[in-house]
Amino acid sequence: MGKFKHIEDFFKKYKWKYILGIFVLLFVDGLQLITPKILGYVTDALSAHTLSMKEIFFYAFLIVLIAVFIAIFRYLWRMLIIGSSRQLEFWLRNKLFSHLEKLSLNYFYHNKTGDLMAHATNDINAVRMAFGMGVVMMTDAIFLTASTIIIMMVSIDIKFTLIALIPFPFVALIVTFFGKLIQKRFKRVQETFSSLTDKAQESFSGIRVIKSFVQEESEINNFAKANEINLQANMNLVKVWGAMSPLVIFLPTLSFVITLYYGGTLVIDKVISLGQLVSFISYLELLTWPMMAIGHVINVLQRGIASMTRINEILDTEPEIHDDDNTLDIDNFEESIEFRNLSFTYPGAKVPALSDINIKLEKGKTLAVIGKTGSGKSTLANLLLRLYNVEEGSILLGGYDINKIPIDLLRRKIGYVPQDNFLFSCSIRDNIAFADENMPFEKIEEAAKITSVHDDIIGFPNKFDTQLGERGVTLSGGQKQRVSIARAIAKNPGIMIFDDCLSAVDTKTEEKMLSNLKEVTKDRTSIIIAHRISTVKHADEIIVLDEGRIIERGTHDELVALGGYYSSIYHKQLLEEKIAGQE
Ligand code: ADP
Repeated sequence: MGKFKHIEDFFKKYKWKYILGIFVLLFVDGLQLITPKILGYVTDALSAHTLSMKEIFFYAFLIVLIAVFIAIFRYLWRMLIIGSSRQLEFWLRNKLFSHLEKLSLNYFYHNKTGDLMAHATNDINAVRMAFGMGVVMMTDAIFLTASTIIIMMVSIDIKFTLIALIPFPFVALIVTFFGKLIQKRFKRVQETFSSLTDKAQESFSGIRVIKSFVQEESEINNFAKANEINLQANMNLVKVWGAMSPLVIFLPTLSFVITLYYGGTLVIDKVISLGQLVSFISYLELLTWPMMAIGHVINVLQRGIASMTRINEILDTEPEIHDDDNTLDIDNFEESIEFRNLSFTYPGAKVPALSDINIKLEKGKTLAVIGKTGSGKSTLANLLLRLYNVEEGSILLGGYDINKIPIDLLRRKIGYVPQDNFLFSCSIRDNIAFADENMPFEKIEEAAKITSVHDDIIGFPNKFDTQLGERGVTLSGGQKQRVSIARAIAKNPGIMIFDDCLSAVDTKTEEKMLSNLKEVTKDRTSIIIAHRISTVKHADEIIVLDEGRIIERGTHDELVALGGYYSSIYHKQLLEEKIAGQE
């Protein structure tokens, strides 16, 4: 049962529903077996002229009554079995999502979002099918087939039954074979459809580029091509369906021909009665479904197991970064930071992103990090947030090894402003209050004021309730940045990390922001990652990174006097400002 270990808990809770469901299903199957018997009896009695109108009415009423019971109990087993399978889908999807949310960052770099989405949709659907219709089909395939055939043999004729049923196993075979083919082609339809939607989506998000390069026509052509591929895939699917349905209907017809011919002879020879022949035909009709079920159930169960295996793989993945036995039982630490002989290489990378970093930052001080793209600046932030484990050298926070600090505590104490200023598609209020949904409005407002985005927000018709994202307002790069900083400040962290987040604003806005930020960073330990000298020059210490190493360090004045890399970009940027000023 190893395959189902992750859903054991679910079945513990739902097992009685399944058992009752199967019981009701068997009951319905049993009821179905009565009607052909009644039909046979009525036919015999009619041909013997021994049936009164009253009796005819009674049997007709009985058939209706059975049909009503079947209808009621069908509803019941659907609610019990199919209903439970929907509960399973709901339960498993929540479990998968909450597990994925807890996995480490590295997992998401190595698994495409599209693949994860496929697990969350296709694989969960397949598991649901196996534990829904799969269970129903298996029950019917076993019970209905066996009981119908036994009744036909016992109450009518063994040889007749065996001969008439010859075409039926082929129904099962055809359904199995075509079922596999249908599944394969259906998958292809889904793939082509998702690349079609990707194409459209990309086209709409890139509409500015498309228009400026006058590429509408070629986009239209590309879309038409992708659409054509989808059509082809759909047509291929229609073809298999088209071939399967007539075959599945044709084979039972063969059975009926045999029945009519062979059964007719038996009636003429008086081996069986006319009534028995009528029952026989009704039973044959009844058998068509379980024969198809045998064919389907194999595919449905196979697919369900394959999907369960893929889901298990995800659920068995442990987050690389988690609290363990070495985690300290602390609920706070002093906000001093020390990098000691720290080196770091990304998993799978060949060259280290950081080498031999030594920095001591006292509580309340500001460290600025400057350097070319790819020099390792963001890696420092990633390690401080413990998005990756520190393995060589150490980072000490308030004297504690970062690997021993409870992860939640660590991250709660850090206000992080990411490089891309990612915001969620919800209201500005909810974006700023992201750390705590019960954040009082005054705190949200205050954070917006400190980052000078308050006036912009008040200018929108819905103010703080303005929706962001696809169906909402598009903020300018600078506004996004300021909301993103407000979000980090609102949680009132002891440590602030600004990851190159001021690069999109012009120098004037930057100046204003910096003077506001001074207020924010005054009592907080801060790390400012930047490209511009103007952003970093007031820091208590500045380090210059190059290929993961510290190549220069000191205050602004010291570094300018040093005449190295820092001073060269300082002079370059001064010159740029001068030129910009003259324009
Ligand atoms: P910066 O922030 O200074 O631009 P980064 O810290 O982002 O630089 O990157 C430092 C080095 O690590 C670069 O060579 C980059 O290609 C590499 N790197 C960054 N992120 C990853 C990752 N997730 N996996 C592997 N290598 C990475």
